[in-house]
Amino acid sequence: MSDPIKIVVIEDEVPIRRFLRSSLAPEDAVFFEEGEGEPGIRLVAQKNPDIVLLDLGLPDIDGLEVVRRLREWTAVPVIILSARGQEQDKIAALDAGADDYLTKPFSVGELMARIRVALRHSKQGQPVSEPRFESGGLVVDFERHLVTLDGDEVRLTPIEFKLVAELARHAGKVLTHTHLLRAVWGPAFEDATHTLRVHMGSIRQKIEPEPSRPKFIRTETGVGYRMLSE
Ligand code: CA
Repeated sequence: MSDPIKIVVIEDEVPIRRFLRSSLAPEDAVFFEEGEGEPGIRLVAQKNPDIVLLDLGLPDIDGLEVVRRLREWTAVPVIILSARGQEQDKIAALDAGADDYLTKPFSVGELMARIRVALRHSKQGQPVSEPRFESGGLVVDFERHLVTLDGDEVRLTPIEFKLVAELARHAGKVLTHTHLLRAVWGPAFEDATHTLRVHMGSIRQKIEPEPSRPKFIRTETGVGYRMLSE
């Protein structure tokens, strides 16, 4: 038996807190909650949780500010719970150091899946530790700089390989356009989302059986991309 997961929820909507509490309780989770940002930050410091679920629209300080403040002293995984139509906020939160986001309304299954991914990443420390990534016939070998699909080598350009590798190292997590552009091209290219889209299109032609309905790399509209993990 493993220890229960300690979760801090910072969310001002009581019905959502109630929903989270009742859905997560059977998952062997201990639950602490706050309705505002400042006391929420203090609660994280007191409880040292395994994961933080954070709303962006809080009555006192912005959720974005909460992420920034937490990142000054803790690497605890933070999952944003966001209302629809706040893409810019979600991007800013991910770039500020949040690990993932869920758009309301979300299902319990989806939430648990994201929590598991976030916990796996935090336990691994640096996600680069795995020498290879494998999912549904797609293998990314980081050491040999090689991608295979059902055993056959996929011929990627160096840039395409870097993109696939970055997504695979963070499989299950959404990576923002800015994150990918910074990681692959460098900070001077943060605005080159069109270039990114062109390369992603080319990658999909090479690895996706049906490029218009991708099964490996999902588009998070307006935000970025996510490599799906098995
Ligand atoms: Ca709110």
